[in-house]
Amino acid sequence: MGEFIGYILDALFALMMLRMLYGALKHFLAPRQAHPGARASAAKQPTGDTGSKMVRDPECGMFVSTELSHRLRRGGETLHFCSEDCLEKYRRHAA
Ligand SMILES: [Zn+2]
Repeated sequence: MGEFIGYILDALFALMMLRMLYGALKHFLAPRQAHPGARASAAKQPTGDTGSKMVRDPECGMFVSTELSHRLRRGGETLHFCSEDCLEKYRRHAA
C-alpha cells in the first residue's frame, strides 16, 4: 500500500512539473506572439465606447461615422467621405 501511495505522489509531482514547464513555455512564447503594432494602434483611439465618431465629409458637407465612412489618407490626417463617389470627386479636384 505504501508503494502505491508513493507511485501516486510521484505521478502528481511529475504532473506538477509538466504544468510548470508548460506555464514557463507559454510565458516565454507569449511576448513574441503579441503584435507590437496592435497596442500602438489601440492607444490611438482612447475615446468613444464604440471607437467611432461623426466627422464632416469635406466634399458634400454631410456628417458620416468614421466606422462606416470611406477613408482617404492625406498627409498625416485621414479624411472621411459618405460615399466612394464623394471620395473620388474630392480626390479628382484635390490632385
Ligand atoms: Zn459625401
